[in-house]
Amino acid sequence: MTNVEYLEISPTNLSILKEQAIDWALSHGLVIRTNSNLSSTTVHAPISLFPSPFPKKEFEFALGLQPIFNLLFHKLSRDHEFIEKVIGELTDVDDFLEKLYNIYINVRKEGVTQQISLGLHRSDYILHLAPNSTEAHIQQVEFNTISSSFSSLSALTSELHKYVIPLQYFDVSPTLKIDALPTNEAMINLPKGIAKAHQLYGSENAVVLMVIQPAERNAFDQRWIEYILMNNHKIHLMRKTLFEIQRDGELDKDTKALIIDNKEISVAYFRSGYSPKDHPTGKEWNARLLIERSKAIKCPTVAYQLVGAKKVQQVLAVPGVLERYISNPSDVTKLRSCFAGLYPLDSSPEGETAAKLALESPERFVMKPQREGGGNNIYTKDIPQALRRMTLLERSSYILMDLIQPPKMSNIVVREGEVIQGEMISELGIYGVFIGDNRDDGIVVNELGGHLLRTKGRETNEGGVATGYSVIDSPLLI
Ligand code: ADP
Ligand code: MG
Ligand code: MG
Repeated sequence: MTNVEYLEISPTNLSILKEQAIDWALSHGLVIRTNSNLSSTTVHAPISLFPSPFPKKEFEFALGLQPIFNLLFHKLSRDHEFIEKVIGELTDVDDFLEKLYNIYINVRKEGVTQQISLGLHRSDYILHLAPNSTEAHIQQVEFNTISSSFSSLSALTSELHKYVIPLQYFDVSPTLKIDALPTNEAMINLPKGIAKAHQLYGSENAVVLMVIQPAERNAFDQRWIEYILMNNHKIHLMRKTLFEIQRDGELDKDTKALIIDNKEISVAYFRSGYSPKDHPTGKEWNARLLIERSKAIKCPTVAYQLVGAKKVQQVLAVPGVLERYISNPSDVTKLRSCFAGLYPLDSSPEGETAAKLALESPERFVMKPQREGGGNNIYTKDIPQALRRMTLLERSSYILMDLIQPPKMSNIVVREGEVIQGEMISELGIYGVFIGDNRDDGIVVNELGGHLLRTKGRETNEGGVATGYSVIDSPLLI
């Protein structure tokens, strides 16, 4: 695909590059916790030593899609009939979605007290090289509406590549040019979005709440948001787990302001709450309900979280659905061009056909449940056995998706000091920042937030950095 002559690096130069990259990472907070129990010990984040080649045209196309996706998901989050139909149908087969859906319904009945919502999204893509084609195009893996992580560590990795690569390479390699490394402002743009929402909340003494998991290894990606919020915007951020929130939080009886430790919360920003594991008891669910009922601006609201479900992605691919939300036909064409084949696995005729197809040609597909955070999908050869084991009801909680097949690409990555070289797959994420105000159907902010490139060994199916499958990378635009 690309000239990657720089990968023919001598062992001596490789060890110099590795040391430079690791030291840069350790010096700049491009780190994760070694182990969630060892709170004072860090290690450099898993990173690639070189940026990975990515077609400039496709990168720019992905950037252009983001405001359209941001607005689409905002409209979906406000379409009660849609949520009722698509998510309501899943409540029989998915306990986690059912609990979220009940919060959505109950708070809706009680009356929503906050009309402003904040979205910090990330739309993820993998390059797809269709059989007999020479040009790869991006296809969307998924659209994340909750806890889109790595904005800070990603921007730091972009900086790292800009620093360490020139030290050895710039006069040597014809492809590794500084101009080919796009700026990445994700580190400042997400806090900027939170700050804007905080301002709109309009209470000077209020603070931002980050809802966190109890033993978070990726805490520094989050800490950077806190520090930038303070440095650039003079806004305090409080970190609390769902357990702590139900223990320490309450609603003001008159205003429904969320009060925690005597402080009013302007924005509740979730970096937890996307997985059943985040809710071991009813207490965590009570915290979620408390926040949803409150006047705090949520990032995201439960409605936004629900429309981030994989099932919604599949429904959006059904002909005619996008047109209901997007008036500009060329925008519809653009979004659709990045959709991989998506199929239901329910009892509908389409679902039965898809299940049959998946049994016949499993190598073409991935099966996805309504889960976030990585490690939940069923890939290719594992599909038939899984399908045969499932009842129809269980099967209905999954969607089926065409496997995206990227062109060949190699890189050298380093994880906990260990160098790994080989064929890799990259996944591009584009951050989006959206603030909507329902009072006048207003779009207050609809912007790009920056990007993330994650790279993993080609033989690995899953993709999370935190889950140990991939490393943080940056694109080398070609
Ligand atoms: P999650 O919400 O858990 O992150 P994803 O849909 O992103 O779920 O799937 C997890 C990983 O699985 C992705 O990061 C990607 O590496 C891989 N993956 C998902 N869908 C596909 C697909 N259609 N083709 C190829 N790989 C996929
Ligand atoms: Mg996801
Ligand atoms: Mg994902």
